[in-house]
Amino acid sequence: MKNMPTAIEVVEGIKTGTISCEELVSKIYEQIEQSELNCFITLNKEGALEQAIEVDKNRAEGEYKRKKLLGVPIAIKDSISTKGIQTTCASKILTGYVPPYDATVVEALKREGAIILGKTNMDEFCMGTSTETSYYGATKNPYDLSRVPGGSSGGSAAAISAGEAVLALGSDTGGSIRCPASFCGITGLKSTYGLVSRHGLIAYANSLEQIGPMASNVTDTALLLEVLSAKDEHDCTQVKLNNNASTNYCCSWLNEAENVSDIFKGMKIGVPKEFIEGVSPEVGKAVWDAIHKFEEFGATYEEISMQSMKYALTSYYLIAMSEASSNLARFDGLRYGLRPDKDEDWHTTFSRIRGGGFGEEVKRRIILGTYALSAGYYGKYYLKALKVRTLIKDEFDDVFKKHDILAMPTMPFVAFKLGERIKDPLSLYLADVNTVPINLAGVPSISIPCGFSQGLPIGLQLVGKHFDEDKILRAAFGFERIFLKK
Ligand code: GLN
Repeated sequence: MKNMPTAIEVVEGIKTGTISCEELVSKIYEQIEQSELNCFITLNKEGALEQAIEVDKNRAEGEYKRKKLLGVPIAIKDSISTKGIQTTCASKILTGYVPPYDATVVEALKREGAIILGKTNMDEFCMGTSTETSYYGATKNPYDLSRVPGGSSGGSAAAISAGEAVLALGSDTGGSIRCPASFCGITGLKSTYGLVSRHGLIAYANSLEQIGPMASNVTDTALLLEVLSAKDEHDCTQVKLNNNASTNYCCSWLNEAENVSDIFKGMKIGVPKEFIEGVSPEVGKAVWDAIHKFEEFGATYEEISMQSMKYALTSYYLIAMSEASSNLARFDGLRYGLRPDKDEDWHTTFSRIRGGGFGEEVKRRIILGTYALSAGYYGKYYLKALKVRTLIKDEFDDVFKKHDILAMPTMPFVAFKLGERIKDPLSLYLADVNTVPINLAGVPSISIPCGFSQGLPIGLQLVGKHFDEDKILRAAFGFERIFLKK
């Protein structure tokens, strides 16, 4: 939809009565129903329209006026549980599963007045970089229908990019928010591990993943992060920050919009060569242009080297697959997953349900993860990967003693063609080279658009130290101002 308002504009418009929520939501569904992109697996049309009417009716009431996302239509990745709305993780094995409860982040969205549009397409169980492993078919890139939207949160990114949602949720284990954000020309943030509750997120690799905001601009991203970082008693890995100000992401820098130099003055940026040397020339150029803009507006930068990065991909895939093999054990036809429809012994049911319910990539990872965890190989693979992970985290900690943020490309190239890499899993894994180190270290990172190559968007990744979301958002906001003015 052309001229889609931002989330901030929607909230303002609804509160002042210049936007009708019902009209906005209906228009978005029209757009979705005509779309060729395949962004959604399940729609919540009736529920959303009912809620929109409710919002229009009550918008002037005190309680409604305080809601941070009043009437904002949002799309939810299908790995996040939604009470009463089918949640499949894009897998055949979960088809028909309707969660009896909401993920904590979904509760928070509802509390703040957001309207749930539906569940977005993704790689099956979040395993992929292109949204092609979905049981429900691939999503297409809105910039070029013959290309992938990135993954695994490809449906969420394409939906925002094409005006099929104002905001979206993604989840990021090794790049799944930032990769599709980069390929679809939108903004996506993976928070510090432990900032956002994972309660209700269907687990792929618990020690790496975070639910996070996806939006058309930085301010909306910050606003959504603020809502998502609500405290949760159900997730013991959530860090309980005691000062409330640190989750007030949206306010501190908005006043600096007019004078971008105030944002960048004195900022020290590190540019690690391991993240930029091997990327395509167009991507490298766009990212260097961005870094030079930061410099022009008062920041300084230094090229640095991060030696342990060369082990990040191997370590990531060993850890992620090991955790996945254990997490996915619950889909056995008894506890979760398709139900047995025949009278047969448990072993036969188990093999039949898992053999037929999981896709090829998921099965590959379960097998590889089980192997890495097996007696005899545990020390050689899994434990070693954990040790490497500690080295990587330490190296990030070190780098942030001298630098405020790091700047680098999100992806080494722009969106590739549908079908181009899916037959060669290794080539897909390699595409994650710049995103997975961030999850291993648990630090926050944002991807924002910084240019185009052959009409396809390029993403700039800004990384901060643990719980420095505010700093990367501020820098991204400053850059957005500069970039949009060009
Ligand atoms: N592409 C990576 C993987 O397949 C990352 C996926 C994710 O972040 N969920 O593991």
